[in-house]
Amino acid sequence: MRLDKYLCNSTDLCQRRARAAIAAGEVRVSGTIITDSATQVHEHNGISWLDRPLRLRPSRYIMLHKPKGSLCSHQDGAYPSLFNWLEIDKAENLHLVGRLDADTSGLVLFTDDGRWSYQITRPEHHCRKIYRVGLRNELASDVARQFANGIMLQGEASPTQPADVVQIDTKEVLLTLTEGRFHQVKRMFAAVGNKVVSLHREHIGHLSLDVGPGQWRHLTTDEVTGFY
Ligand code: URA
Repeated sequence: MRLDKYLCNSTDLCQRRARAAIAAGEVRVSGTIITDSATQVHEHNGISWLDRPLRLRPSRYIMLHKPKGSLCSHQDGAYPSLFNWLEIDKAENLHLVGRLDADTSGLVLFTDDGRWSYQITRPEHHCRKIYRVGLRNELASDVARQFANGIMLQGEASPTQPADVVQIDTKEVLLTLTEGRFHQVKRMFAAVGNKVVSLHREHIGHLSLDVGPGQWRHLTTDEVTGFY
């Protein structure tokens, strides 16, 4: 991890003040003053600030119910950033584990543990995400088979991974994906001549969304370790 990130994580300093402290020669790594914020460090290196040894805080893992009309980004834009709902110390140190479109609602995860996010987002780990999808037109009879075989999306070099469709109603399905390409659900239905009119993520792996819109909670240890 970068030295400035380490300092932010282990103290109350924001990133700007952490960088200033490093540049001012207040931080030592293995006893040596380091003034480059980008230096890669490990906890075993023995890092101190103003002679105070620093320990990393435990990683954080959070589920949040993203309301429709919010942005999966750190800043507000055309819609408010999801981070507005996370009333938590140093929320800026957390990242989103995969994103949802502004008009999509449902389960999103936040963490500061990059290795954990990787387990969830990399297609080779086959982590299942289940979406409830509302369609403009009735589901055609061969769509489940097409999605199970994988389809080619415009501009992509490889077909989608096998996806599972469970029909709930004539115009509503549960779709299970194990990858997360750009606007994937909308593009898959567009490719078979339909249109997504509502989209909500209900599950990621073994996690089910169980908090109301705009609400969040920390994951339990079992919920976290279940992804390894
Ligand atoms: N697929 C989409 O098209 N949009 C999302 O928000 C998530 C998956």
